[in-house]
Order: sequence, then structure tokens, then C-alpha cells
Amino acid sequence: MSRYDFDLFVIGAGSGGVRASRTAASQGIRVAVAEELFLGGTCVNVGCVPKKLFVYGSHLPEEVDIGRGFGWSVDNLSFDWPTLRDNKTREIERLNGIYQRLLDNSGVKLFNGRATLLDAHSVLINGETVTAERILVCVGGWPYIPDFPGNDWVISSNEAFYLEEFPSRVLVVGGGYIAVEFAGIFNGLGAKTQLAYRGPLFLRGFDGEVREFLAEQLPHKGIDLLFETEISAIEKLDDGSLQVEFNNGRSTVVDCVMYATGRTPKTTGLGLENTQVELDSNGAIVVDQNFQTREPSIYAIGDVIDRVALTPVALAEAMVLVDHLYGEQQKQIDYQNIPTAVFSQPNIGTVGLTQEEAVANYKVVKVFRSSFKPMKLTLGNHNERTFMKLLVDGETDKIIGAHMVGSEAGEIIQGLGIAIKAGATKAHFDSTLGIHPTSAEEWVTMREVSEVIRS
Ligand code: NDP
Repeated sequence: MSRYDFDLFVIGAGSGGVRASRTAASQGIRVAVAEELFLGGTCVNVGCVPKKLFVYGSHLPEEVDIGRGFGWSVDNLSFDWPTLRDNKTREIERLNGIYQRLLDNSGVKLFNGRATLLDAHSVLINGETVTAERILVCVGGWPYIPDFPGNDWVISSNEAFYLEEFPSRVLVVGGGYIAVEFAGIFNGLGAKTQLAYRGPLFLRGFDGEVREFLAEQLPHKGIDLLFETEISAIEKLDDGSLQVEFNNGRSTVVDCVMYATGRTPKTTGLGLENTQVELDSNGAIVVDQNFQTREPSIYAIGDVIDRVALTPVALAEAMVLVDHLYGEQQKQIDYQNIPTAVFSQPNIGTVGLTQEEAVANYKVVKVFRSSFKPMKLTLGNHNERTFMKLLVDGETDKIIGAHMVGSEAGEIIQGLGIAIKAGATKAHFDSTLGIHPTSAEEWVTMREVSEVIRS
């Protein structure tokens, strides 16, 4: 008989926490999970899922416009924000219910409330002290908004999902995934949208040409890109709108300012000071290769360890951890070649190295590029183009990076992720037959090398 109430106590029922709880419980482990907000965490409630629904919704006017070239006319197109918002919320609630059932059916004990650590083996939850042999912290992250005069008036993506009224004029601040995705959403749904980023070009860390290509596309859609621009102050005007002062002396008046300036690990107030758990300078929990913190009984995965803040990564970390603790210790996580998409409009899809990384790591890099107007857009007056780029190790012929900006890039890149993981060469791509006519066939028909870079 164990001297602990549970074998594993999981703090946070987001993607990683639910997966770890269910997988461990299915192996007969006595698991409890505590959640203070909503089941499914950021991804299900205020992240990937509602965001993607909004991306679909915001792209529809463009689909209607494309339809005109095919002979369709739709008059009096109008948009009702409460319908989209509330239908989305209903769908999220349905998913919350599924998560609840998944936990119940796998025998996980769910505590609704905020858990804080009392020591290496105990947590306080809803006034009760619960003990566990091991504790897993997967509390995720939270939007970070810098300090400046008037920052009380801004919202984060959390609030954007539940706005009472849809704003006519929006300023999105930041240059990462969330900023670019929400600029597309607000713009597509009809708001006059500006995106302000502090540096010369947004999406730092992505392939340079991809960043430039997207920066060319977004203004065609109606988004005003304000690079090298920071906000110095925001003032609320009598009519409720917001006067935004920029550091370059300019200003703008909008109805909503949404900050997407990164997310920080949600480690404050968790009681970590009652343990040996160590945090890095960003507040992320420091773990070793087995996700063990400096307190041997406490583990952490997901956004709170701030390695790669993506849902599939948290899921993979959960599986590897449970295998390590209770399984055959065979599973490993590979942080290389993680395919990812930015659901900007058009999408970015990417896997492997950027050209900048490839050139820094390989002696000879062959670059294959293609840029074209997708067939679907040829019957109307549309500016959107698609960009694809393959990076090949000139010495081994292996594909080391694939990047795309274009419709459904997220869907398309997933398959390339498998090919790259399997070690595919350019010769494999060349001998694969295309599916005609598609955009994706370009991946196997890029014959002419655009550039050979030697270092
Ligand atoms: P990111 O870390 O991707 O980007 C943050 C942005 O804010 C950067 O452009 C950064 O600029 C800027 N920034 C940071 N601090 C300041 C500041 N003080 N003033 C002005 N600008 C600032 O964060 P996001 O919030 O966009 O997303 C968080 C994470 O969530 C992502 O990294 C991603 O892992 C995940 N995510 C994934 C999605 C997907 O898979 N489709 C969708 C949404 C989120 P700089 O580059 O100059 O530092």
C-alpha cells in the first residue's frame, strides 16, 4: 500500500496534462489532475482550436470574392460576430465535455481548482492537502503584455475570443504566430487592421524569404504593416476609442488594441518556492532530458518548460514522460524537424532548417524555389501568390528544409514532415510523381536549382 494518496498528481489539464494523465491511468497508475480554468488548456479554449475556427470564418469573404470569377454573385454579404463567437464557444464547450469524459473514463480523479505545491510530494487543492509519489507540472503559459502608459486598455488573444462587440478598427501588436494569425482574422472579418512590430521584419526565426514573401502578401489583403514601430502610450478617448502613440511620433485611433508579444510560463504563485524546483530567467521550469526538475519527485512538460510551445510537442513530451516513468523507457522525443504552420492568410507551412540555418550548418546548400499564382485565383483579379522552397544538402542530396507560403500550406507541409523525417533525398522527390493539377505537385517538379550556396 502506497503511503501517498496518488501515484501521480498532475497540475494543469491542458494538452500535455490530459495526455499524461490518461496514458498513465491506462497503465493502472493512480492519477489525479487539477485544473483551475478549463479542460483542454490554451489549445482547446483560447488557442489553436478557436483560432482555427476564426481563421476559417475570416477567410470566407475571400472565397466569395474568388467565386465571382467563376460566375457566382453573392449580394449583401454581411457578418454577424455574435453568431461566430457563440457557435465557437459552443464547440469549445463540447470539446471540454469530451475531455471530461476522457478523464473520467480512464479513471483519473479530477480536481476543479487551483493546486499549489506544499512540498516535494504534497499539493494544496480546494483547502485539502493531497499527497503523491510524483507531481507533474504542466500549467502552460499566459500572454505577456509589456508595461507602458495605457496598457490597461489593451487585450490579449484570450479576450479576443470573447469580445462583446466586433471592433471596426484594430491594432495588433507583435510579430509572432499569434500577431500574424489574428491580424488575418480581424482583417478577414472586416476590421480595418494594422499590425505593429518593433523590428524590421516580423516572424523572427522563420526563413527570411518566407518572412519577406508574407510581408508582401498581407498588404494586398488590406493589412497595414507597421514595422520598426513601438507603442509608447495609449489613451482612452471620450467616445471609447483608443488613441495610440507610436515611438516614431505617429499616432492612430482604433477601437481595439490586441497585444501578442509572447507568452510567459505560468509559474508564479504555484508554491514552487516550497520545493527545489528551479526556474530560468524567463520563469520557465528547468528540467533534464527526462523532464525531471531539480526536485526529483517533480516533473514538468509543455509550455511551462518553454522549449517548443506547440500542442503536438506537449503531447509528445507527455507520452515520452509516461513511458519513462511507468513504461519500457523506449520513447524519445526528437525536437528536430518539427513541422509547423502559421495560420496567416495565406498560411505558412515549414519543416526543417531555414535557409539561414542550413547555410550555417552545411558546406553546400542547394536552394530550389517556386513562386506562382495558384490556379484557383486565375479567373479573377487576385494578387495572392504561392511560394515554395526546398533546401537540399549539396553533399548528401538530403532534403533539410521545406517552406511554403500559400493556401493550405499547413495541410501540405505535414506530409513533407514525414518525408524529411524518413531522410528523403532530392532524388526521392524527383522520382515521385506529382498530383496534377495541384500546388503541392511543385514539391516534386522543382528541377532547376535556383541557387547553390557554398560556405
Ligand atoms: P512569439 O514568441 O511567437 O512572438 C512574440 C512577438 O512579440 C515577437 O514578434 C516579439 O518580437 C514580440 N515582442 C516580444 N516582446 C515585446 C515587447 N516588449 N514589445 C514589442 N514586441 C514584443 O509569441 P506569440 O505570442 O505569437 O506566440 C506564443 C507561442 O505560441 C509561439 O511561439 C508558438 O510556439 C505558439 N503558437 C503556435 C501557433 C501555431 O502553431 N500555429 C499559433 C499561436 C501560437 P521579437 O521577434 O523582436 O522578439
